[in-house]
Amino acid sequence: MNPYQLAPYAAKSSESRGRVYDEPAPVTRTAFQRDRDRIIHCGAFRRLEYKTQVFVNHEGDLFRTRLTHSLEVAQIARAVARNLQLNGDLVEAISLAHDLGHTPFGHAGQDALDACMKDYGGFEHNLQSLRVVEQLEQRYGTFDGLNLTFETREGILKHCSEDRAAGLGELGYRFLENGQPSLEAQLANLADEIAYINHDVDDGLRSGLISIAQLQEIAFFARHWHEVQAAMPGISERRMIYETTRRMISALIVDLTRSSQENIREAAPSNIEDVRRASQLIAFSEGMAEEAGALKQFLFHNLYRHYQVNRMSSKARLIIRRLFHVFMDDPTLLPPDHRAQAGREDDRARHVADYIAGMTDRYAMREYRRLFEVEEV
Ligand code: MG
Repeated sequence: MNPYQLAPYAAKSSESRGRVYDEPAPVTRTAFQRDRDRIIHCGAFRRLEYKTQVFVNHEGDLFRTRLTHSLEVAQIARAVARNLQLNGDLVEAISLAHDLGHTPFGHAGQDALDACMKDYGGFEHNLQSLRVVEQLEQRYGTFDGLNLTFETREGILKHCSEDRAAGLGELGYRFLENGQPSLEAQLANLADEIAYINHDVDDGLRSGLISIAQLQEIAFFARHWHEVQAAMPGISERRMIYETTRRMISALIVDLTRSSQENIREAAPSNIEDVRRASQLIAFSEGMAEEAGALKQFLFHNLYRHYQVNRMSSKARLIIRRLFHVFMDDPTLLPPDHRAQAGREDDRARHVADYIAGMTDRYAMREYRRLFEVEEV
């Protein structure tokens, strides 16, 4: 069924640790393919279309949304998986699910919700992604959540504090014992990085918040930019930008593949359990990690902290805070199914956080207007 031979250390669906609720094995697909399909068909996945990372959803149709970001992550991860003979279906499932728990308005939304939840166990988007696939999606007749395999859930839980890990059973062990997840999970994590660094450069330039002159100070960008300039003199700036980012993506992918191949050769894991006991094997070379790091720093200071982005982030925090407090003070304002769940005072905050985290950017803004503007219903 597989288009290529999996390496001995790859995750195999036939050897999966399985699902929490027993189900008959799928007939026409593997366990990891079923996971991927369930993720694509779930409501939280569709909402990614109207959630953003840096820009707010209404700012322009060409900017990445969390949906297109997740597709780019899956594409990059699958490409590397094939070269490393890792399980492309698992890596795809993890990539498509990795952002399901994100709040509206990117990191500003996450930080604001976390602050609101300070006395109630906090809010962390990574754990929320797990909560979405384990509990919040309610579509199957006999269980809550999507009942995904252990390996997919292991990959979704990218990081986790020791305190929280202690309450997560088998999934939390690696954070307490300093272990690693599957190579597929390690790969999805770095594919995420490759995707966002490059699309944020592209979106940042398109928005006009950062400029090519600024980016030329970053060696990694400058090198590829000049290479394009020399190879294709006279092409439009739009094409130059695309030719540069595609070269940067390519360079990152090639480096990741080679350096990971070397790490795997050295550690010589003979199965997935060896992988879990080894150090991180999917990694950029030191030189590339530095180059990518410089670009990340650049984006952090010049794009994510741009005053226009700060203004939107400030509004986002205000919206999240006011929504949280209005529902906490009066849960009768919640729509009926959320109200029923938030009725019990002891876990009201968690249900309110679930409701808010599930909102898209535009839904959160609409809900804000409905609750705080007299003329809006
Ligand atoms: Mg991501």
